[in-house]
Amino acid sequence: MNIKPCAHCGGEGYLYLPTCKPKDPYNPRDRLFPWVYCKSCYTEVPGQDEDYQGQTAVDNWNRRYHEIPEITQSMIDAYMKVGRHSSLKGEKLARARLLAVFSVLCSK
Ligand SMILES: [Zn+2]
Repeated sequence: MNIKPCAHCGGEGYLYLPTCKPKDPYNPRDRLFPWVYCKSCYTEVPGQDEDYQGQTAVDNWNRRYHEIPEITQSMIDAYMKVGRHSSLKGEKLARARLLAVFSVLCSK
């Protein structure tokens, strides 16, 4: 199974399969569903109960990765342009740059 990089940090995702079957005695450490876990930022994405191959967790994990917008040159240009000729600093500069990038994103 192809597990894409983490949607939050780009780290490697690891697939964990269910640790029990439906009729096993209750153990609070067991999980009946598979999940993909990022060892860099601790993000977890679950799959469906009783999916012993883990495909549902991988599908959910990989779908999140596709939700990240591609960073384009026009977004980088907008970011770099803000603040070049003004006295914005710190958080105000960061907000102005983020707004510039968002407006490029929303104009697609
Ligand atoms: Zn991560």
